[in-house]
Amino acid sequence: MFSCWLSRLCGELSTPTRRTTQLIWSSAARSMVLSSQRIPELSSFVARTNTCGELRSSHLGQEVTLCGWIQFRRQNIFLVLRDFHGLVQVVIPQDESAASVKKILCEAPMESVVQVSGTVISRPPGQKNPKMPTGEIEIKVKTAKLLNSCKKLPFEIKDFMKKTETLRLQYRYLDLRSVQMQYNLRLRSQMVMKMREYLCNLHGFVDVETPTLFKRTPGGAKEFVIPSREPGKFYSLPQSPQQFKQLLMVGGLDRYFQVARCYRDEGSRPDRQPEFTQIDIEMSFVDQTGVQSLIEGLLQYSWPSDKDPLVVPFPSMPFAEALASYGTDKPDTRFGMKIVDVSDMFRNTEVGFLQDALSKPQGTVKAICIRKGAKYLKRKDIESIRKFAADRFNEEVLPIFLKTNENWNSPVAKFIMEEQGLGLVKLLETQEEDMVLLTAGEHKKACSLMGKLRLECADLLEARGVVLRDPALFSFLWVVDFPLFLPKEENPQELESAHHPFTAPHPSDIHLLYTEPHKVRSQHYDLVLNGNEIGGGSIRIHNSELQHYVLDTVLKEDVKLLSHLLQALDYGAPPHGGIALGLDRLMCLVTGAPSIRDVIAFPKSFRGHDLMSNAPDSIPPEELKPYHIQVSWPMDAETEKSSSNHPCRSES
Ligand code: ASP
Repeated sequence: MFSCWLSRLCGELSTPTRRTTQLIWSSAARSMVLSSQRIPELSSFVARTNTCGELRSSHLGQEVTLCGWIQFRRQNIFLVLRDFHGLVQVVIPQDESAASVKKILCEAPMESVVQVSGTVISRPPGQKNPKMPTGEIEIKVKTAKLLNSCKKLPFEIKDFMKKTETLRLQYRYLDLRSVQMQYNLRLRSQMVMKMREYLCNLHGFVDVETPTLFKRTPGGAKEFVIPSREPGKFYSLPQSPQQFKQLLMVGGLDRYFQVARCYRDEGSRPDRQPEFTQIDIEMSFVDQTGVQSLIEGLLQYSWPSDKDPLVVPFPSMPFAEALASYGTDKPDTRFGMKIVDVSDMFRNTEVGFLQDALSKPQGTVKAICIRKGAKYLKRKDIESIRKFAADRFNEEVLPIFLKTNENWNSPVAKFIMEEQGLGLVKLLETQEEDMVLLTAGEHKKACSLMGKLRLECADLLEARGVVLRDPALFSFLWVVDFPLFLPKEENPQELESAHHPFTAPHPSDIHLLYTEPHKVRSQHYDLVLNGNEIGGGSIRIHNSELQHYVLDTVLKEDVKLLSHLLQALDYGAPPHGGIALGLDRLMCLVTGAPSIRDVIAFPKSFRGHDLMSNAPDSIPPEELKPYHIQVSWPMDAETEKSSSNHPCRSES
């Protein structure tokens, strides 16, 4: 297992040029890339001659020195040594003259780290292990050194041993020894390297670091604040380098990129981290198509070679269609079961809640067909679907089952007229054993509910063995034509930016900004992969007056906070645009990891804690004094304080 992933990784460096990447290589750049296409030097500068995973019959007779962790010991005769590259069998010498070597290798506890030197020999006939890449050879040891002994471990370093995530995060440095974590982090490093190569070497981008101690930005996500020694003054950690990358364009660095750390204090969400990494990009003199083509090329170039090559261009879908057909701005296009508007079919219905909805001006009826739903979904599934709709959306959902004899079976079957039934069959292409879900209400709300039920039913069907989504499929999609503003959830009379306040309006809608801003389309684009947003960007406003109008008049933001940016736009700012890819989520999908925490070396727990070091931690009052800060303890401070001493209690 070990060496299959490493050879996949190394293979990427050594495989011949692929057809897809060839298309985007200029000849000058090709030589630069080819020079990196050799097996990396894995043992330069260190106290080993080889890695544990690399020895084969071709090394027979060689004198080698290996360093690694003790994985197994068999009857004090064999030892299996492990490093990141693989496993190798070491023969423990039995003769008197090597008693001290034997003592070291037999007494060192499992997971101790040792150095051995000896000769690569062939395994005796009948003892070769074809399942092990190094299974033809073993090491006849001459000397051994215990580099460091290992105490009793909190869990065994074996991938098949189940451990809770809390325990894994508490002992992350041990968890990192697992094959899976090694694979995830090494593949991440390799993809980032390829991205750098593509951006800097092939397309002339400049990698620029931007500050992390910054100032509050209006709108958007909540920011972490950092106290300063000036009374009442705080820095903020940036949600992204957005302002800096735009200012770099004003500064003439016309192709910027950065592997940027971003911070958002958004509380606990299963697929989020308070600090995360973006591949952040900005370009001058570019339009939407230019940014999209760059990203398609970038992903195609850096895509792991053990996966099917990406086909570009990626398909595109307008935001309105995404919402109407999938109930979300990040549709999972790996399967159908799209939402269909069936309002016209039910205009003269006798079903109460449909009638009610359609009597209102914004009322609609929506349907989805759950393939084989009648066969695989159980009564309790339907009940929980209806409960979800009632609790979360205050909406009713009606299930209708199409039986083998083409009769309808539903709590309201008798109210469904024949032509309605036939209409549903035709519009939804319903087949035997399918189930139709109907709901009614205002378009956006009804679509959003149906979108959630579509995903929920897909999960349920898959749990029952129906194959809906091919796990090897990577379905990329651009979502475009977003509105520039959306009504605020808490106060729909006010508007907020659909992306961020620097996004430019669609050129043909600029006049609407001054009359009907909610109708303005934007030059914002999102990249979606298998139903997850993995990137987003826009063409920016580069006119100071327009930016001022959007911030001040439309969004009612405090423009003083952005006076530096507004001023910069006045000094010959070039037209510009960009995008940011969420690296953690992208890697999570590429590796098939269950959580983004599995592609980050030292992630925070669900509640934003570092379970290993116990951060965030309290600071004694005297150390807070220079920052002019005092803690006002909540009522149950004592309970909080004592539970924070045990961060692992219930943190997964
Ligand atoms: N800064 C934006 C974000 O983090 C991305 C962009 O517009 O380039 O979502």
